[in-house]
Amino acid sequence: MQLLTNLFQDLRITTNSVKSNQTSVRAIQNESHIDTLSEKIDQLYIMNLAALELLTELGITQSQIMKKIEEIDLRDGKLDGKLSQPTECSDCGHKISKRRTNCFYCGSKINSFGFKST
Ligand SMILES: [Zn+2]
Repeated sequence: MQLLTNLFQDLRITTNSVKSNQTSVRAIQNESHIDTLSEKIDQLYIMNLAALELLTELGITQSQIMKKIEEIDLRDGKLDGKLSQPTECSDCGHKISKRRTNCFYCGSKINSFGFKST
């Protein structure tokens, strides 16, 4: 009986060790994704700043810009600061933007309907 108990405990320890390693790998992948997103945010910020400064130089007012932002936001029927509602990855189930071509989390190819392309 003791041998069986020890085997069971060894199995649980090994299983938990594997789970811990998988979590560490995911953490490293998430850090990489965050770095990539930070770089993209910086690029978008610079592009938006350039566009805003050029529009201001051309006489476009902040009120006109805010009105246009609201008009674009409403194109999906909701004034929520987003272009569209997220969809679910058919492989991992995470919510992802419909604008993406691949799942941010598992890398699966996503078509415009949120289903996996084969
Ligand atoms: Zn996925």
